Amino acid sequence: MPRTSDPGRERGVSTPAHRAPQDGTTTAAASHREGGRDGDGPRENGRSDGRHGGDLRSVDSSACSEATQSRVVVVGASAAGLSTVEALRQQGHRGPVTLVGAEPWAPYDRPPLSKHLLTLVATAQGARHPGTDADSPSARTKSLDGAWKQVRLRSGEELTELGVQVRLGSPAVGLEVAARRVHLADGEHLDADHVVIATGVAACGLPGTPQRPGTPPLRGVHRLRTLEDAVELGAQLRQGARLVVVGGGLVGSEAAAVAATLGMQVHLVHRGEQLLGHGLGASVTDFVRRLHLEHGVDVRLRTAVANIEAHAGGVRAVVLSDGTRLPADAVLMAVGSRPVVDWLSGSGLDLSDGVSCDATLSAAEGVYAAGDVCRWPHPRTGRPARVEHRANATEQGIHVAGRILGLHADPFAALPYYWSEQYAASLQVHGWPQGHDEAEVVHGSPEERRFVVAYRQGPRLTAVLAVRSVKAARPWRAALADGASWHQAYGELAA
Ligand SMILES: Cc1cc2nc3c(=O)[nH]c(=O)nc-3n(C[C@H](O)[C@H](O)[C@H](O)COP(=O)(O)OP(=O)(O)OC[C@H]3O[C@@H](n4cnc5c(N)ncnc54)[C@H](O)[C@@H]3O)c2cc1C
Repeated sequence: MPRTSDPGRERGVSTPAHRAPQDGTTTAAASHREGGRDGDGPRENGRSDGRHGGDLRSVDSSACSEATQSRVVVVGASAAGLSTVEALRQQGHRGPVTLVGAEPWAPYDRPPLSKHLLTLVATAQGARHPGTDADSPSARTKSLDGAWKQVRLRSGEELTELGVQVRLGSPAVGLEVAARRVHLADGEHLDADHVVIATGVAACGLPGTPQRPGTPPLRGVHRLRTLEDAVELGAQLRQGARLVVVGGGLVGSEAAAVAATLGMQVHLVHRGEQLLGHGLGASVTDFVRRLHLEHGVDVRLRTAVANIEAHAGGVRAVVLSDGTRLPADAVLMAVGSRPVVDWLSGSGLDLSDGVSCDATLSAAEGVYAAGDVCRWPHPRTGRPARVEHRANATEQGIHVAGRILGLHADPFAALPYYWSEQYAASLQVHGWPQGHDEAEVVHGSPEERRFVVAYRQGPRLTAVLAVRSVKAARPWRAALADGASWHQAYGELAA
């Protein structure tokens, strides 16, 4: 018989009335609104202060007060899960809240994993005294602890302060939707009034290579999704060593930039026509490609991987579809991601490409999804969307908290937003560049390494991208948020 746990009650965990963090830290909800190294002004439609701007006139106050005492289980202790629990407390929820995480770490941030954390780990590794056993369990634990401190969002103590019961290292393995019962790997189950699914995505392997699921891992072949992944990859990055990055999307391109900056020999192999994906257009992707070339990266577009050669359990070379053999000390597979929904099989939820939700992010009565795993019809486009961006995770967590508290029943309509760092260039992207009919540089130029691109699809302005030009992009972003037509925005803003 599985043991039962009624969050915050049976386990004798006190659930104190919410206190705001006492240390003056910003909340996770607020901390990612800005995004990117050189920041990005407040989003017009991203409410990160825990309040909701919807119409509250129809809210039933008795339902609301019941909702503030309800039991909530959030599955996934990362950006979206943390944002949900913090926003619940900020918006007046006082009932038991449990945050369930598969990883042993309290919530940490993933964007630095392909940026400064990689550099930090590599630099620390390089500075280690000769003869130190870097692979010993204690050195590994120390290294992981140190890395977690660099990217942590909240500590377990800070979550306890919020009255949140945290269950780390204990993945959920099943959900009974009608009963809102979450089963854990350790045999326990958690009963709730509201369940939030925030289990994100996992890095894919490459079909047809020794890294396909079910095959033993090959030493030197890496993925980059978790803290462990980043620490293991970072430990391989050293001057003169050879790295093959497979996949020139955001993560692959950023990691290649870090490795090249550290003095590695880097090959960046990408199946597509253009780096970065997301249909950013030639002006942007050529710019990024040139940055890589300037830093000595061998960029190979329209090229697939045929095989990964192994020797004595480790990687030796990557063989490309054109027969080229690239000797390698390490390989990073950055070939995409898949929503983590296997634990929900048999739940009856629609799991085709994430957890399918209605426009308000509800998947079933009392069940919601937030973050990378959530698919919902975006009111601006009318099309199903699943957004794997950091700001989206925060904002959807806040939105779901408001839904649970009965504060609103609004569709989630925030504009997608993400940033990226490639060498010294930071990029900010707002809206939907993919599928554009026209992408025009409307400020600066790629040659100046400072520019803004506006995207048109049909009659509408659909996206804006800035390279080292946050200020210049601001009016374009405002026009985008206002739903301006291309004609109107271009007429008023193009220099
Ligand atoms: C290397 C890297 C760089 C990135 N850089 C950028 C960037 O520059 N800009 C940007 O906008 N975005 C970036 N992103 C994307 C951003 O980090 C994600 O959008 C964000 O982390 C999504 O948060 P999430 O909480 O939805 O999912 P995740 O962060 O994936 O968290 C899901 C959590 O759920 C846990 N989990 C999974 N299954 C279970 C289970 N069964 N039970 C319990 N817990 C479970 C996982 O262990 C994980 O901790 C980057 C991502 C990566 C990996």
